[in-house]
Amino acid sequence: MTTELTRLSAADLAGRIHARDTTAVEVTQAHLDRIAAVDRAVHAFLYVDADAALAAAAAVDNRLRCGDPPASPLAGVPLALKDVFATVDMPTTCGSRILQGWRPPYDATVTRRLREAGVVILGKTNMDEFAMGSSTENSAYGPTRNPWDLDRVPGGSGGGSAAAVAAFQVPLAIGTDTGGSIRQPSAVTGTVGVKPTYGGVSRYGLVAFSSSLDQGGPVARTVLDAALLHEVIGGYDALDSTSIDAPVPPVAQAARAGAAGDLAGVRVGVVSQFRGEGYQPGVLRAFDVAVSRLRELGAHVIEVSCRSFDHALPAYYLISPSECSSNLARFDGMRYGLRVGDDSSRSAEEVMSLTREAGFGPEVKRRIMLGTYALSAGYYDAYYGQAQRVRTLIIRDFAAAFERVDVLVSPTAPTTAFRLGERVGDPLAMYLSDLCTIPVNLAGNAALSVPAGLSDDDGLPVGLQVMAPALADDRAYRVAAAYEVARNAADGPLAHRVPDLTEDRLPPPSIAEVVGR
Ligand code: GLN
Repeated sequence: MTTELTRLSAADLAGRIHARDTTAVEVTQAHLDRIAAVDRAVHAFLYVDADAALAAAAAVDNRLRCGDPPASPLAGVPLALKDVFATVDMPTTCGSRILQGWRPPYDATVTRRLREAGVVILGKTNMDEFAMGSSTENSAYGPTRNPWDLDRVPGGSGGGSAAAVAAFQVPLAIGTDTGGSIRQPSAVTGTVGVKPTYGGVSRYGLVAFSSSLDQGGPVARTVLDAALLHEVIGGYDALDSTSIDAPVPPVAQAARAGAAGDLAGVRVGVVSQFRGEGYQPGVLRAFDVAVSRLRELGAHVIEVSCRSFDHALPAYYLISPSECSSNLARFDGMRYGLRVGDDSSRSAEEVMSLTREAGFGPEVKRRIMLGTYALSAGYYDAYYGQAQRVRTLIIRDFAAAFERVDVLVSPTAPTTAFRLGERVGDPLAMYLSDLCTIPVNLAGNAALSVPAGLSDDDGLPVGLQVMAPALADDRAYRVAAAYEVARNAADGPLAHRVPDLTEDRLPPPSIAEVVGR
């Protein structure tokens, strides 16, 4: 019975809770039980607060029992929050040792909106340190594993959120996407992940990595669930100066319309840059099948060339480290988090240096150094300036493409989930995981990843990326929802093929392994 509840979509769970066929407490307990059964193997969570979750669920039930309407269409539904969003009642570590145990004095706007909507936050999910990475192996608290194959990565940086949703530990999660950290993990775990238009979801209380690129967004198992969550967290926020003062695009309506209709008259552009060398053949075959499904649905498909996209990756790896080197200067052991070597014999500078040496992992240090170099007086124009010019070209290529088509599509990631450890020693190979997702971040428009079946060469999930113009997020939802219905009709929902994880395949990690890394 309780396992059954964890198999339902967020929309179905909400429907049952609001009709009082079940209670939010029962639904929450079922998911907590699932976490207890499988998270030893998956390690999607850094923190779970069962008591607080059950109390939040009971509050939803009480309200319904009094005859009041639910606070939102998702009231009572459990969710996992990436550990980069500030939460007053839970630690916020960003997967870093420098923030181990840190409790923010305030809630992020996303956190607050979830609470106000009656969404039940079960806990915080694992991530690459400060969201830098594509595998969740850069977490100071040990890696998350991919529920499809526990020897493989769940993608990153939001591998915890994607794995938790894929493993039925929660129907919904929140991620952040600076270069692909929602979409790439979703692609390799067979889930739906959305990067909303930049400015569409408040960044207030989202610990900054690269402020001009960071964007929070939903992770779910269905397109409609993602849309419902998008509407809860999205919309103008006076506390974020980059927040867009415009209504949230009608994404839930678009998801419903897409699921009920076809794609007649929709113009779809296949980005010609996203194939060839470095792409796994099985991923490209799955992508081609997905494109033919779009055609069968009535879409008019053409090929579109966006030449600047070839330079997106190097531009991203100049702009994002530059911004990170500035943003991460605040972690100095003085105001919050870890402090090392604080005794009267040392100067503040020495304490800062010891703290940062001990508190940051190797990838974060690499990015800070890259960024500091790119911004240094003698090189500023050659690196940072040049990268900003590439960014302009990418914006123009998107604009030209969206004159001809309504949405663009590509594989979400060039390969399926790779093995744990496989790319740790090769940063460039790791960076290439985001080849297809980065242009969208640089341009600030919207994109999502929707499951596109399994690769025929390794049986692992592949994602279809649907990209839309800024503030036209609803277009991506409509196309993805229509595609999802067609694919499910042909092959059944992908998520339900995740292997049974309750047979304990891994020994429990020791406390030293979890905390001491
Ligand atoms: N994998 C990319 C990086 O390491 C993207 C990360 C993200 O989107 N947060 O920077």
